[in-house]
Amino acid sequence: MNQVDNSMNASSGEQADAQPAAPGDAEGAITPAVGQAAPALAAEPAASTLATELAAPTVSRAYRCQCERPIFLRNSECLACHTPLGYVIERLGVMPLAPAAGEGAQPDTFTVFGDPHGKTYRRCANFLTPAGCNWMVPAAREGEELPPDTHGLAPGYCLACSVTRTIPDLSVEGNGELWRKLETAKRRLISQLLALGLPVVSRHADAVHGLAFDFLSNTPGGPHVMTGHQDGVITLNAEEAEDAVRERIRAEMREPYRTLLGHFRHEVGHYYWDLLVQPTQWIDDFRALFGDERADYAAALQTHYEQGPPPDWADRFVSSYASTHPWEDWAETWAHYLHMADTADTAMSFGVDATNVELTSDLFTPADLWQPDDPDAGKFLDFINGWVLLTNVLNELSRSMGQPDYYPFVLPRAAVGKLQFIHRVVTQQRPGDAPSMVVAADVAESAPEPAQAEAPQQAPGQS
Ligand SMILES: [Zn+2]
Ligand SMILES: [Zn+2]
Ligand SMILES: [Zn+2]
Repeated sequence: MNQVDNSMNASSGEQADAQPAAPGDAEGAITPAVGQAAPALAAEPAASTLATELAAPTVSRAYRCQCERPIFLRNSECLACHTPLGYVIERLGVMPLAPAAGEGAQPDTFTVFGDPHGKTYRRCANFLTPAGCNWMVPAAREGEELPPDTHGLAPGYCLACSVTRTIPDLSVEGNGELWRKLETAKRRLISQLLALGLPVVSRHADAVHGLAFDFLSNTPGGPHVMTGHQDGVITLNAEEAEDAVRERIRAEMREPYRTLLGHFRHEVGHYYWDLLVQPTQWIDDFRALFGDERADYAAALQTHYEQGPPPDWADRFVSSYASTHPWEDWAETWAHYLHMADTADTAMSFGVDATNVELTSDLFTPADLWQPDDPDAGKFLDFINGWVLLTNVLNELSRSMGQPDYYPFVLPRAAVGKLQFIHRVVTQQRPGDAPSMVVAADVAESAPEPAQAEAPQQAPGQS
């Protein structure tokens, strides 16, 4: 593998965004092929996203250049009109940019296209590294103070990059490519968390409870790096970014689904459990739905690996691993919620409407919900049933191409109530109009010490 193969997105599993070359790669400046700019795409910030359907804070995944062509999450330049593009957190999306002009404009800064007097931004310091980051960092005009939303950022880096604490050793051939895949998946994760209004607090802002990612590699004679979460630190073995390795492990573990994004969504679920469930009024409902997490975690893991899941796991859990322990059930179901929300948002952003699907399917009923009387319950049920219809079609489309199922799961009735619980935890913690990072820091400070770890971890910083 080339150390830095920036020319194209190598991961066939993650191509939905476009032809995303490296944002930092001058040649490959990313963008949809022009011919791809199908006018049929409803790329307006869609009126009917999951957000409107659910009164939930989610987001459009369809973005548009100032030249009206569709652009995608990983783009840094429009191939058609060469307008620079970048992800702007306040806009929760990829925006066309213009060089900042006028009084006090600093070199190499940008404003959002069409908003010349608005905020100014720089490119993230990882724009030109193998991480290929296309996110924008708040900048200041001359004589202005740095905006308060740079709180918690590593100098020069965007929020997504600021939560990375340890990167793979780039002197090792191939690690640049692995790092790029890791960061690409992580940016999608972080953009969704922000869209959901979840607190994303870096370790720079909160050294104790902030979020940090360590991408570690096995070293000769050293301990095997285990994927896991502890006290806000998410560790991932960088070899998981290697398709052949990840696929081998997936087959060995008999998992239907194993992706970098899935790892991140699962592990960040543990983080949010520490933050939003354990120290809050939700804990009693959590125990009623998922079980008592005070059960011995190490013993539960050992039982799982020695004896396998209970025979009826498929009736009770979204995955066999979820049957291990209430913490893992939470993290697996949480990851599922994020999968569903992002996929549904993307579908709706592009005008794909599952309610048009002609298919008879066993749909869920109010009796399957945790709180059928909640004012939001009907919409949530529609969302779940829309998901069933959508994924039935997506699976058939995958099979038409000879690919594995797009959605290789069967959602059991028992998981629907848990998903509704997660939906309520997510929506009710929203800070309203307050900047989420500020509120998040307050929440984080009051959170007690978390306790669980997926597995023993290698000391950070070894790679
Ligand atoms: Zn354009
Ligand atoms: Zn960045
Ligand atoms: Zn876990």
